[in-house]
Amino acid sequence: MSDSSSILRALPSVDELLRQPELAPLFQRALQCGGARARKELAARHIDGLRRAVREQKLDRAALERALEPQAQYRTLEALLLREEGAGLRRCVNATGVVLNTGLGRAPVHPEVAERMAEVARSYCVLEVDRWTNERNQRDDRLGALLTRLTGAEAAIAVNNCAAAVMLIFQTFAGGREALVSRGELVEIGGSFRVPDVMARAGARLVEVGTTNRTRIADYERAITERTGLLMKVHTSNYRVIGFTEEATPQELAALARSKGVISAFDLGSGLLEDDSMRPIAPVLGDEPLLGTALESGVDVVSFSGDKLLGAPQAGILIGRRAAISALRKNPLYRALRLDKVTLVGLEATLELILAGRGDELPVRRMLLEPAQAIQPRAQALAERIAALPGCSARVLEDHSQPGSGSAPGTWIPTFVADVRHERLSAQALSLALRSARVPVFSRVQDDRVRLDPRTLLPGDEEDLLAAFVEVTR
Ligand SMILES: *Cc1c(COP(=O)(O)O)cnc(C)c1O
Repeated sequence: MSDSSSILRALPSVDELLRQPELAPLFQRALQCGGARARKELAARHIDGLRRAVREQKLDRAALERALEPQAQYRTLEALLLREEGAGLRRCVNATGVVLNTGLGRAPVHPEVAERMAEVARSYCVLEVDRWTNERNQRDDRLGALLTRLTGAEAAIAVNNCAAAVMLIFQTFAGGREALVSRGELVEIGGSFRVPDVMARAGARLVEVGTTNRTRIADYERAITERTGLLMKVHTSNYRVIGFTEEATPQELAALARSKGVISAFDLGSGLLEDDSMRPIAPVLGDEPLLGTALESGVDVVSFSGDKLLGAPQAGILIGRRAAISALRKNPLYRALRLDKVTLVGLEATLELILAGRGDELPVRRMLLEPAQAIQPRAQALAERIAALPGCSARVLEDHSQPGSGSAPGTWIPTFVADVRHERLSAQALSLALRSARVPVFSRVQDDRVRLDPRTLLPGDEEDLLAAFVEVTR
């Protein structure tokens, strides 16, 4: 066997590679996509790949010579370049059937909402000034008015996301003091957001009450001391405790807190807004708590995600009693967590649509509401068009969509999917190829087949989905 260090001498340097005329078009593309460093990184990554292959004895002298021929180098470099050009945040097609898919950006906003967001992004806007008096005001005055109109709460503010809202609640009402939380509600919400850790960072001492499956109001009552600042209830939005269970109701919590002169809060995360357009899917979403019910319980603050609950841009919304909301607003942390102009106008525009009785036009709600019978012909049409492509076969199957990745656990919405196979590609390879298409397509892999759920396709997505299949099968 040949000595790898002598073989390695055949590798070009970065500068030699950059000077090769055959590779110039690729390096020109790399320059356009990320500047001189990106061009250099591309060359270095290519050489590193070859070096590793030699060290791991995957390339001997002859194989390396073949790999260094201009055409072979061109192909390897182009594959690396395509990864670079296709990296980053971009539009994709969600054929997973998971409506509020966190990995895919949760809620696509209504086109009219998107239009207002784009307009404000590229222009000046009336953000923190009263246009009639020309005096400074609060950027979320209008949002507060819309939220109180919609929910009946006394006051409302919004921050960057619901995690920030929870952080703000703990810091404001239990910073340097104690917060009582049920052992059954010490949840992790994904992406390393764990209630006990958030509390520690907010400087709030956690006092656990009750047990994992049963917590009564008497448990809270016994644990209250003069150090207690907050009674916190957290909706277990991504799991359920079933069987022999009991939890204190928000009413009980609110009444106890009031009698002891402390604050009560309820983090809903998701939940359900029970305006007319949502009523039909209440049964679908099972026992998701209703926003109105949470508020009417009398707790001082209710928090939820703008994207999960409203189908709006990412935001954390805090509604409740005037005094409590005002305390949250006065916290300097609020200034650090507040919304930017683009999100703010997106929230305003979404709330205006809901208040105008057009809530069922919101993409997320339309998706959740679409009956399986309406999806079947869409799945059928999709399957027929895919089956007409070389190497592909497709059939229609009954299946289930999911409201969220991590919300409404155990809730499944009946749907129909196009169930697809490619004669040469495994399901994993096909799904990777679809994700690699010009407009990436995300699907579900099950039983070594690729499933495409039309429920989560937006208008126009079918064409990009088909285009991805054409790319794959070419
Ligand atoms: C999802 C969720 C959060 C976090 O919301 P983000 O908007 O993702 O930050 C907080 N609490 C509960 C109960 C949730 O379900």
